[in-house]
Amino acid sequence: MTRVAFLGLGAIGAPMARHLATDRFDLAVWNRTPEKALAFASRGRARVAATPAEAVEEAEVVITCLPTSREVAALLDGPDGLLAGLSSGALLVDCTSGDPGTSRRIAERLAERQIDFVDAPVSGGTSGAEKGTLTVMCGGSDAAVDRARPVLEAFAERIVHCGGVGAGDAVKAVNNALLAVHIWSAAEGLVALASAGVDAVVALVVITASSGRSNASMNLFPERVLTRAFPRTFRLSLLDKDVAIAADLARAARVPTPVLQLTAELFRAAHHALGDGADHVEAVKVVEQWAGVEIV
Ligand code: NDP
Repeated sequence: MTRVAFLGLGAIGAPMARHLATDRFDLAVWNRTPEKALAFASRGRARVAATPAEAVEEAEVVITCLPTSREVAALLDGPDGLLAGLSSGALLVDCTSGDPGTSRRIAERLAERQIDFVDAPVSGGTSGAEKGTLTVMCGGSDAAVDRARPVLEAFAERIVHCGGVGAGDAVKAVNNALLAVHIWSAAEGLVALASAGVDAVVALVVITASSGRSNASMNLFPERVLTRAFPRTFRLSLLDKDVAIAADLARAARVPTPVLQLTAELFRAAHHALGDGADHVEAVKVVEQWAGVEIV
């Protein structure tokens, strides 16, 4: 039985960790708000640790799933931190959608203690986490990614080794920047059509059957915008963070990326306007507000 620790039982972390609460793993969990960890463990096959250090003591594989790489780096230090509990030979798999530079610095610090690191952000949303069908994009050595696989397979359908440490974070950031472009551009197109008197339901029938389709037009708009349900599954602040990582990556590489840079600006403005609690699809409301038109 592999000894696993999972830290960060948030919107996506909790359903991911649920797949590890089986007889195949010896699971310890930790969450900043302990009530969430206690509620998780009350469903069985997991024990709650009082501190990050306690969670990772004796763990062979540790998974973190926190908002940003900053929180992961901050969890390393102090008497209750990860470094106080991790044994040499352990593996830290960070499922946070992180930033490549911070992940590389974390990996370097861990390497000094013979602890391996893989950045392993996921895609597929909370529904994919519940179904165990996530895609995981990994950055790290061949050996470390091979060690991570049997644990990641518990909640993933596809595990892709993207390159060295930071490569998983980079791919994830660009993927989510494309998601942001699709949400924003679909919203602009649909408010333009609504202003011209075309019904959004009719427009989406055409677009989803045609070359302008995307996950936004095929799933997010029909399920969340046309219904005005806007369920809170993935915070806008987290998508803002992802697009900013992608824009920074391109700027650092001196690659001209006007659409990426503008999308980062737009999502920063939407996050600022709607606040930390808003869901990512609620960015559509800002486009509607600017146009003075609702899509439906
Ligand atoms: P949530 O905001 O729902 O959860 C964040 C988790 O991190 C909670 O467990 C929270 O603890 C913990 N946390 C926050 N700040 C700290 C801190 N300073 N120290 C320790 N723990 C902290 O986020 P998600 O679960 O949605 O996202 C987690 C990661 O997964 C993000 O990087 C996100 O971009 C990525 N992701 C999310 C997806 C989604 O659909 N939600 C899809 C794909 C990737 P507490 O309970 O105490 O608040």
